[in-house]
Amino acid sequence: MTKKRIRIERMILLVLAAVILCLSIALAVTGSKYKTLKQNSASASEALVSAQQAQESLAGQKQQEASSYQDALNEQSAAYESEKNELNDKISELNKQIALKKATATEKPEETPATPKPQPQPTVPSKVPDLSAKTIYLTFDDGPSSRTPEVLRILKQYGVKATFFVINGGKYNKYMKDIVADGHTIALHSYSHDYKKIYSSETAYFQDLQQISDLVYNETGVRSNVVRFPGGSSNTVSRKYNKGIMSRLTAQMADKGYVYFDWNVSSGDANGNSIPAATLINNCRKLPSKQTVVVLMHDAGAKKTTVAALPAIIEYYKAAGCKFGTLSSSTPTVHQRVLN
Ligand SMILES: [Zn+2]
Repeated sequence: MTKKRIRIERMILLVLAAVILCLSIALAVTGSKYKTLKQNSASASEALVSAQQAQESLAGQKQQEASSYQDALNEQSAAYESEKNELNDKISELNKQIALKKATATEKPEETPATPKPQPQPTVPSKVPDLSAKTIYLTFDDGPSSRTPEVLRILKQYGVKATFFVINGGKYNKYMKDIVADGHTIALHSYSHDYKKIYSSETAYFQDLQQISDLVYNETGVRSNVVRFPGGSSNTVSRKYNKGIMSRLTAQMADKGYVYFDWNVSSGDANGNSIPAATLINNCRKLPSKQTVVVLMHDAGAKKTTVAALPAIIEYYKAAGCKFGTLSSSTPTVHQRVLN
């Protein structure tokens, strides 16, 4: 009995020892697993933090890059701006030089004989005469036309006023008010500009004149009494339609309340279209002894060279000290000899 009991106790002890061993093994395994898990978790959170840091630093870097790029752009744009300003300065300087050269060129004698040695000429200071006593009346016949805006632009550029003897310009009649708005004088030429019609009789002439007067009045509100005959008072074309009509018309003008003007300088642009600008400029330099200088030019679509010549014509008169005026009933008249 005792032997058996001892064996049982031993077996129990053995089992207990085995259980304890198993438990401790299990405990050890779990502990190690827990430790590894803990370590893993710690390293994961570290990784997360470092990733966040990396992201932040990347973002910072990107921002820095962007701002430095912006700086570069700003600098570049500033550089461009200053370059642009410099170029603009240069352009305006060049323009000044060009204007100066042009003015000097205008003052140059028209024909300088090629002399081998420069001869001292103390009595000839300059070819540009002193014309300061003269008043230039630039006149433009046959407008308004497609050229009117260009003519007005040039006159405005030089601050010069002129006189426009207008006709019925159809769709260009709208420019009549621009002529007036710019301070020029609008005057009467003819409604139809049809020689055959207007010079057939005095009645026909004055009817046509009334028509253009009404048109100008309707377009501009100006009632003009300043007139230029188509072809001028000296025209002989009218003889073909009515002998002596110019003599009778010119005699009646004052009684009808009109003053008429011819010209004493012709640009020559009536001689044809596309007359070289140089020819027109040259013609305009041939001045009469009279102080009242009325210059004939044309405002018409075909008179492109008149527009081209106009700046040089004005520059010449300015260089010679001339004044500019617009024609009115109080301007000393310039009349040609009536030939019909
Ligand atoms: Zn005309």
